[in-house]
Amino acid sequence: MLPRAGFQQWLQELSGQFEIFGPKKNEKAIVSWQRLEGGELPDMAPGVPKGSIKTFFFPQPETLFEFTARPKQDDSFRLREPEKRQKPRLVVGVRPCDARSVLLNSMPYKEDPYFQQNRQNVILVGLACRNGCSTCFCTWTGGSPVGTEGLDILVFELEDGFVLEPVTERGESLLQKASSARDATEAERQAVQEIRDNAPTSLPEAMEPASQLVQKDLMALYNAPFWQQLSDSCINCGTCTFLCPTCYCFDIQDETLRGKGRRIRYWDSCMFPLFTLHASGHNPRGEKVKRVRNRFMHKLKYFPERFGPLSCVGCGRCVRDCPVNIDIRQVMKELLAV
Ligand code: SF4
Ligand code: SF4
Repeated sequence: MLPRAGFQQWLQELSGQFEIFGPKKNEKAIVSWQRLEGGELPDMAPGVPKGSIKTFFFPQPETLFEFTARPKQDDSFRLREPEKRQKPRLVVGVRPCDARSVLLNSMPYKEDPYFQQNRQNVILVGLACRNGCSTCFCTWTGGSPVGTEGLDILVFELEDGFVLEPVTERGESLLQKASSARDATEAERQAVQEIRDNAPTSLPEAMEPASQLVQKDLMALYNAPFWQQLSDSCINCGTCTFLCPTCYCFDIQDETLRGKGRRIRYWDSCMFPLFTLHASGHNPRGEKVKRVRNRFMHKLKYFPERFGPLSCVGCGRCVRDCPVNIDIRQVMKELLAV
């Protein structure tokens, strides 16, 4: 148990060792991932920040290597790895759905050295949800508002401070450095248990489609008229995929300037028509309906078929920010009903 001031002091002390980030509100009241300085606490209002946590593991853009575009004899390098960041990162105030997304993304990125190195260098301090927002549905997809998957430490906010539970060994060793920590009292343990018991029922709607969807033969619905109706309103803006913590598609480009260059990878989106355009001019997903169908089939059929869980953690970002109100929860219900 750490009182509020003790938690701030702990963060302040850790800032010598880590770059610290967390959700923070800007002047327009938009909460996003930002640097926290001087023991600053993260924004703890319910819900997830606007941007995705994948930015810490799969940065936009990421330099894969640097090169000399027109090599000369006396060049100091022709090809080299990008400079490493000096300090590891500590991200605080991470909601359990976001932490779980990191685990899901590490399945396809198991052999990706960039992603895995970022995983080694980023420590996640979670914040248990007391109440879900209107767009939260983590329990539908196999998660929990008090889940620990992907986290190093889980924090419960109480009236007088915070109860911190280590999840991994590195989380445990960081907690050893919290000088003003003490054992939680019986009343504080009980308060934590109440959060555990009540948080899942605070979500707007209880439903468990994860296992049902995985069992369903979604390929039989491949040509269902439902996809056309759904895609009619989509404007292919890509907002859903860019904000989604479990969307991980990328493209690669070389940038050169005055003889020096770098190869970068950056986020791409299956909602963009150019995403699947072949050099021949053929485009297997040239029509919008095919792109919309692919986004949902990837999350609800192809990914679980290959890796097990759905590729959605129920964070609700795509529901909250889609300009035409396309709602993945509705898609799940429709697919279950067909
Ligand atoms: S955010 Fe909505 S409109 Fe934009 S691409 Fe996604 S589904 Fe389509
Ligand atoms: S599909 Fe939507 S709700 Fe699911 S993880 Fe992505 S942004 Fe969150």
